[in-house]
Amino acid sequence: MNTKVWKVDKHVDNLENNPQVVDAARFLQENEVVALPTETVYGLGGNAESDVAVEKIFAAKGRPSDNPLIIHIADKKQINAFVTEIPEKAEILMERFWPGPLTIIFKKKDGVLSDKATGGLDTVAVRMPDHPVALALLKKCQLPIAAPSANSSGKPSPTNAQHVIEDLNGKIAGLLDGGSTGVGVESTVLDCTEEIPVILRPGGVTKEQLAEVVGDVHLDAALIDETSKPKAPGMKYQHYAPNAPLYLVNGDKSFLQRLIEEKQEEGLRVGVLATAESVGAYQSDVTIACGKRSELESVATALYETLRAFNQEKVDIIFSEMFPNTGVGHAIMNRLQKAAGNKIINE
Ligand code: AMP
Ligand code: MG
Repeated sequence: MNTKVWKVDKHVDNLENNPQVVDAARFLQENEVVALPTETVYGLGGNAESDVAVEKIFAAKGRPSDNPLIIHIADKKQINAFVTEIPEKAEILMERFWPGPLTIIFKKKDGVLSDKATGGLDTVAVRMPDHPVALALLKKCQLPIAAPSANSSGKPSPTNAQHVIEDLNGKIAGLLDGGSTGVGVESTVLDCTEEIPVILRPGGVTKEQLAEVVGDVHLDAALIDETSKPKAPGMKYQHYAPNAPLYLVNGDKSFLQRLIEEKQEEGLRVGVLATAESVGAYQSDVTIACGKRSELESVATALYETLRAFNQEKVDIIFSEMFPNTGVGHAIMNRLQKAAGNKIINE
């Protein structure tokens, strides 16, 4: 298959009628799959009402079929067609955080969306992305669009069009290239089917921000104790992994430097994920500054690009600094732990 690439400038007016967007919307209406920029990461979109389109998403990514997709909409009214009720707290959260990196789980109305998109569950995950190209495309095609991240299953999520090409070229019908994404980590997944909302996946909207609006917010047990079964089916899989084994280092810079030297003595090419503040502190083969520690948002923005860069550098092993588990640091640490398969070296 030839993957058609449309370049589109997210700053131009009237994006909905931009010829590239119009063409991509037609692809979606014809049940083809199209990668699209959002404010978090690139998504791989397909008509959520069509088994055919949804099957194409799973096939292109090699995604396990029990891992349900997030449904993307451009207008809140769209959800009435496929959810049974909108709890009051969900209403408040939509008002405050949509469009934005918050996915809300609702009880699902049967018979509208493809069961393959929702993994056969009786709930559905929905969000409204905060990106002009994504919103224009959603408005133009007039469909609920199922869209997981546009990477091969298990790899770091794509934060620019080149990453999508690396993983999916020839496997998808189209790619709307709208430049680099901003937030860099995926949306927060919040279950609002219970009285007290539960975070199933930390993401771009923090627990602190949610609590300010709706009071108590719980964390899914699996986010606290890794032996618990996660309520979001996708959270049990390894994700975001670079090619080389990744270790999170819980210790100071001199401890990390000793680890580097040990591995270099074994003849390995060593990579280090550091920050702007610490990049000069290590003598490794490749040290990459992943944003600034003093601005954790910048670490989130750069995270997946940094993990992919170690593949280009062909390192044999990667050591990463750790980050505080608060604010967006919670999402960063969640992704790093998954990317590392939970390999942590304590000083
Ligand atoms: P991705 O599409 O890769 O961003 O992942 C979406 C995440 O949302 C995965 O961890 C899914 O398992 C989770 N998810 C999607 N739908 C539901 C749902 N109805 N209930 C719980 N988790 C869900
Ligand atoms: Mg993903």
